[in-house]
Amino acid sequence: MKDKKKVLQRVIEETRKEIAGNAANGRIAGALSGEGYAGGYYDAINDVILFLNGNIPNRRGYWDFLKDEGPVTTSDGKIENFVQMVGGKSFRCECGANVFHKPDKADLMLYKCNSCGNEYRGG
Ligand SMILES: [Zn+2]
Repeated sequence: MKDKKKVLQRVIEETRKEIAGNAANGRIAGALSGEGYAGGYYDAINDVILFLNGNIPNRRGYWDFLKDEGPVTTSDGKIENFVQMVGGKSFRCECGANVFHKPDKADLMLYKCNSCGNEYRGG
């Protein structure tokens, strides 16, 4: 079992079994089972899986610092490239290149040339 995401999914299944087992012990145990250690562990592993899939988990703001940092990336973590169309033609940087990335997740209108690093505001 080398695929780390599959390993994490298996850990999730194990926590689910514990939560279901606790729930089988009566109404109060059932109500608390999702709130206890297994429930927290389940949520944490779920967030790690979300993160590994390229998302930023929302839980309690623990991951919010990521929203303000770094470039826009694809789901596999690579910097995403953009070609801007202006008047039916691809926009070109002063240097002649036409492929850009968004260097700041918190500022999606900012584009940076992949070739020379010039920055532009786009729509
Ligand atoms: Zn350029």
